[in-house]
Amino acid sequence: MDHQPAWLAQGAAHVWRPYCQMKTAPPPLAVARTEGARLILADGRELVDGIASWWTACHGYNHPHIRAAVQAQLETAPHVMFGGLAHEPAYRLATRLAKALPGDLDHVFFAESGSVSVEIAMKMAIQYWINRGVHGRARFVAFRGGYHGDTLATMTVCDPEEGMHSLFAGVMPAQHIAALPTDEASEAALDRLLAEKGREIAAIIVEPRVQGAGGMLFHDDQVLRRLRRLADAHGVLLIFDEIFVGFGRTGDIFACEGAGVVPDIVTLSKSLTGGTLPLSAAIATRAVFEAFWSDDPGAALMHGPTYMGNPLACAAANASLDLFETGTWRADVPRIGEGLRAGLEPCRGAPGVVDVRVLGAIGVVEFQAAVPVQAWCQRFAEAGAWIRPMGKVVYLTPAFVTSDAEVELLTRAVRSVVCG
Ligand SMILES: *Cc1c(COP(=O)(O)O)cnc(C)c1O
Repeated sequence: MDHQPAWLAQGAAHVWRPYCQMKTAPPPLAVARTEGARLILADGRELVDGIASWWTACHGYNHPHIRAAVQAQLETAPHVMFGGLAHEPAYRLATRLAKALPGDLDHVFFAESGSVSVEIAMKMAIQYWINRGVHGRARFVAFRGGYHGDTLATMTVCDPEEGMHSLFAGVMPAQHIAALPTDEASEAALDRLLAEKGREIAAIIVEPRVQGAGGMLFHDDQVLRRLRRLADAHGVLLIFDEIFVGFGRTGDIFACEGAGVVPDIVTLSKSLTGGTLPLSAAIATRAVFEAFWSDDPGAALMHGPTYMGNPLACAAANASLDLFETGTWRADVPRIGEGLRAGLEPCRGAPGVVDVRVLGAIGVVEFQAAVPVQAWCQRFAEAGAWIRPMGKVVYLTPAFVTSDAEVELLTRAVRSVVCG
């Protein structure tokens, strides 16, 4: 804080910060550079990043393989429009994603952010029915605890009570927000909802295995099998939003692949480029794609973000996939999970703590009430860690390259604040 760079003081009057009451918040930490699992601050301090920059930097920062791929692409063609033009990085990436995803999730539509890919998945689902001559199916079933983005349409499929978007209640048409079918009673309730409202529903949308920003809530694969069964029984589409869980975070490359449940559309972003550049994708099965394959120009998907399939971002994503193909993440995720379990378990029983849980490389300490985000961020930083709580949870989602000693530093920082 003592060595605030001039650019921070000058720019602070002009930069509008995210999720932040700027009047009362302390200034943000000035980052000078990044390396591996570490943020190097302008004042010289080094913090181990416990959350991989909002779950993006899965291979750590500045990975030499990704950096080289982006540098080479920068020399060749940093960007061209995707309407009417094609380039190898995007076409190669689409081919590889189709191969890596289960079933016939083979048709890749690129965008630049997670929220936009969810919007596109929602548009695909609505138009799928229109193109097939079925009218009136424009609503979605989504789940309590869910999070799918901050744009207007994606806000409607987020948990309505979670707080972040409650100011906007009534601005957009309401969706059907249900409980996840975690047991027979909730499965029967969802079955009844679909029997009653099914004909106005385009799709069910869910974050498989982990509801991330809504509170790091875990559910088992049985829930996903129930959703597939109910979607089929009532003839609605099923969308998996794997923007958080995709690319190894739960121990499988994709949750759908690990669970053996193939959705009709899947969305990917966050770790897609290894945290290097913004990129997202909505990927549809052949059956969904075929509803758009027609002699009628009006049946086409009329969407095309200006920077879709950006070559630099696709080059980074291809390089990130190379790293996944080496397979080291398969050992790193359980290794980090063990470190998180050992390091966070002592928080159980600490004042206000209601649960400690770990899945893959995700460690969570949940509290009875919301925790003071800004104050705790500062205390974690004093302990050498970058950790930013969300509502009632303090969570760790480190990069897969984080060493055992760094994982221990992270959990020690959590214990020092939580256990006093
Ligand atoms: C982060 C996230 C989004 C939104 O992605 P942005 O890139 O922030 O728009 C959507 N869905 C899930 C599951 C996410 O974790």
